[in-house]
Order: sequence, then structure tokens, then C-alpha cells
Amino acid sequence: SQVTTDMATLTREVEKFTEHKKLEIEALKIREGYRKEFMGNVSHELKTPLFTVQGYILTLLDGAMKDKSVRKKYLTRASKGVERLIYIVKDLDMISKLEVGDLHLQMEDFNIVELVQNTFDLLEMKAAKKNITLTFDVEYQKAIYVYGDRERIQQVLTNLVVNSIKYGKKDGTTEITIENLIKNKVIVRVTDNGEGIAKENIPRLFERFYRVDKSGSRKEGGSGLGLAIVKHIIEAHEEKIYIESVFGVGSEFSFTLEKSEELPEISSESDIF
Ligand code: ADP
Repeated sequence: SQVTTDMATLTREVEKFTEHKKLEIEALKIREGYRKEFMGNVSHELKTPLFTVQGYILTLLDGAMKDKSVRKKYLTRASKGVERLIYIVKDLDMISKLEVGDLHLQMEDFNIVELVQNTFDLLEMKAAKKNITLTFDVEYQKAIYVYGDRERIQQVLTNLVVNSIKYGKKDGTTEITIENLIKNKVIVRVTDNGEGIAKENIPRLFERFYRVDKSGSRKEGGSGLGLAIVKHIIEAHEEKIYIESVFGVGSEFSFTLEKSEELPEISSESDIF
């Protein structure tokens, strides 16, 4: 009869609704879990440098202040700790903006060769301190215009090169290359012959706060957010980031960018012929 059909339909509807609500609650629980984990990670990251700074200040107050050379040493260390805190807070600020979708890209046409050259110039000394040779080689090309957020792409490249120095071997090399693809893309690669990453760790690398070697990386002073930021920026550009790494041999991080439409490239031919 009509009544039983209606009842059956209604029951189905109620079941569907309940199932939907259950899924929603599950999703909320997972999100809440992430949030708790994130908060835990943040306080953990901040605690270490905070206690370090506090330790130096207390020692100074305790009498170390009297000796001029000790005073300078401890103040320098305290200041390094504060620097590190600022660095972590800046990264946190950036990641939260990226995750909330609050970071609007300032898209423009710019010369990627020039940007790589600038990054190279800024980081060459840092590499040299570890006796790492930084190389940059764009075959034949003087200028390649791409469309993107120049400052954010500079940040991506800086993070990748700094990592290759941090996790690179002493006396090693870091190579930056730009590959100008026939289609509308370029690929920027950062290749090192450093410690490499074991296969099982690669999938988690872009997670916030993930580090392969917890103690070792912290000594190197990162926030554990660098690669998560890199991934967000590249994805906000709707581009791709790749990683290839062999443990004990080295790593290659690469990302794509879109070539500019309006601006002509200085073609390779004029340079070779
Ligand atoms: P961190 O602040 O720890 O450097 P990142 O997000 O930049 O954080 O990197 C996450 C982890 O990925 C690092 O702790 C390190 O274990 C690994 N890693 C990143 N880049 C490299 C590289 N070039 N060679 C080897 N390991 C790397």
C-alpha cells in the first residue's frame, strides 16, 4: 500500500542521513586529531630553543655576567636561540597562511635564470663553509621567462638549496639546473650527492614537522616545515614537485613552472650561432 511504501522511503532517507552524519563526525575526529598533533608539534619545536635561551640568561644572572668574554659568549648563544625562534614562528605563520588559503600569489612574468642566479649568489658562501661546490648551469639560455610568484618561487629554491647544503656531504656538490622543455614548461632541479633519503621515508617528507633524523636535523637548525611550505607553494601554482633520492648516494628535488606567454624568450640560437 501507499503507506508502507512511504514508510520504507522514509526509513531509507533516515538511514542515509544517519550514515552521512556518521561520516561527517569521523572526518571531524580526524581533523581534530591532526590539530592536536600539530599543536603538540608546535609547542615541542618552541620549547627547545626557549629553554636554551632561558638557560643562558639564568646562567648570566647567576654570576657569569661578571666575566666579559663569558658574557659575550652566552649573550651570542641566547641571541642565536631567539633567532631560531623567530625563524620557526615565521615558518609557522607561512604554513598557516598557506593552509587556510590566505596567501595570495602575486603572479608576474619574471626571468627564472636571473632568480636562480640571485639564489646562487646568496648561498654560495653558505655552501663554501661546508666545502660544498654549488654549480648552476643553464645550457645556452640567457633568459627564460616564467609566470609565477617570484618571491615565493625564490623561497622554494632557497629551501631546496639550503637543504642540499644541510644534508649534503662535506666536500660534496649541489647542482642547480633549469631545463627548458619544448612545451610550455620549465623544470628547475636541485641535485646533491649528500646523505640521500631511504625509500620508506620519502612519502612522508613533505609532511609538516617530518624529519628523517630527528636529532641530526635539529642540530642543523631547521623547523621541519621547509618542505611542507615548498609543496604548498608549488601546488598553489598548480605545478608539480618531484623527488628522487637514493640513500647514501644523493637526492634530486625538482619542480615545474609555466613559461610566460607574452614575453619572448631570448632564443638559444642567437647565442650559439
Ligand atoms: P628541516 O627543517 O628538518 O630541514 P624540511 O621540511 O626542509 O625540514 O625537510 C624535512 C626532512 O627531509 C629533513 O629533516 C631531512 O631529513 C630530509 N631532507 C630534506 N632535504 C634533504 C636532502 N637534500 N637530502 C637528504 N635529506 C633531506
